[in-house]
Amino acid sequence: MPGGVNSPVRAFKAVGGNPVFMKNGKGSKIYDIDGNSYIDYVLSWGPLILGHAHKQVISSIVKTAASGTSFGAPSVSENEIAQLIKSAMPSMEKLRLVNSGTEATMSAIRLARSYTGKDKIVKFQGAYHGHSDGLLVEAGSGAATLGVPTSSGVPKSSVVDTIILPFNDMKKVESAIAANHKKIAAIIIEPVCGNMGVVAPINKFLQKLRVITRQYGILLIFDEVMTGFRFCFGGVQNMQKVKPDITCLGKIIGGGMPIGAYGASKRIMDCVAPLGSMYQAGTLSGNPIAVACGLKTLRILKKADYNKINSLCAKLCNAMQKIAKDKRKKITVSRFHSMFTVFFTDGLVSDYKSACLARTDKYADYFSAMMENGIYFAPSQFEANFLSFAHTKKDIEYTIEVFNSVITDI
Ligand SMILES: *Cc1c(COP(=O)(O)O)cnc(C)c1O
Repeated sequence: MPGGVNSPVRAFKAVGGNPVFMKNGKGSKIYDIDGNSYIDYVLSWGPLILGHAHKQVISSIVKTAASGTSFGAPSVSENEIAQLIKSAMPSMEKLRLVNSGTEATMSAIRLARSYTGKDKIVKFQGAYHGHSDGLLVEAGSGAATLGVPTSSGVPKSSVVDTIILPFNDMKKVESAIAANHKKIAAIIIEPVCGNMGVVAPINKFLQKLRVITRQYGILLIFDEVMTGFRFCFGGVQNMQKVKPDITCLGKIIGGGMPIGAYGASKRIMDCVAPLGSMYQAGTLSGNPIAVACGLKTLRILKKADYNKINSLCAKLCNAMQKIAKDKRKKITVSRFHSMFTVFFTDGLVSDYKSACLARTDKYADYFSAMMENGIYFAPSQFEANFLSFAHTKKDIEYTIEVFNSVITDI
């Protein structure tokens, strides 16, 4: 396998050393094949909000698997998960299940082009919307980590219709729209960025985007693959009261199994085949086991008190920021509810440019020191870390203690 891995950031290239092979997980902990244990803040890059091997989730998978792994025909649980998602995010009057976040965003773009009859899309610098050609331009996550702003193998013709703008910069949005609005089908955005590290929208950026897109007949796509069901039983669209035209989901709605979804108003979704002319399909889409895992996860989340993980995460991040300040370290702990990044730079991180001021060499040292002490953070500066409902106060206190001891030498 290239780099020994099936997804690039797992190879530890950005932090040095060799990847650690994991054997099993339970709650907030993962265990490698050498028997070492780690408090896990990666959580499979976000999906495992209930922690590893949650009893009810696993038993739901096992029970479903015993009845068959795939039918290639509709099954009732697909309707159940669709109803539950729709109840939490009413902007999705209709939705379609796919197999990954990449498929969700790729399909959302095609849908926006189909609905508007326009070709151009706007994405933000450092944002990651999966690895489809048209969206792999100045992308975050692994692409940022490896210093490959645009992947090789992506033809120029695939990206000529992609306009790249800096996150949180309304002036640039206004001028791009003034020049191109007759050609722009959609703006796609991570409403809270996770893939350049955690960067929150400021100065009502999302609200302003909603106003200007509506004014010019441009669709607003919220890529909530990471943020959906992460901060509340819903998305950033609920918290910020901004209704996107199309929403993309993934990660948490699969609870650790491969899934994605895209949805919109009935009017927009009726463009999708078989009702409309926009084609999109999948042999394993709506897979019963993935759906069972996601459905159980969402049912548990519906009754969960998100305040618990949000406030535990605040406790962790406030403590790390205070320690860094007391030791005069140039560190900004960027947090949005239960998602955070320790940036090795001082000052506000509000876009990709300011995120890139961070010292990746220091992050690498920090990552290794934490790992040696049994704490697993994202193996890259430009990624989000997460809390799960399985993390305990004790986990947090231990993490703070380790941070305090290792950060002195970094
Ligand atoms: C993870 C992610 C994707 C891609 O999802 P995959 O399931 O890895 O294809 C797309 N958008 C955002 C915001 C993500 O965080």
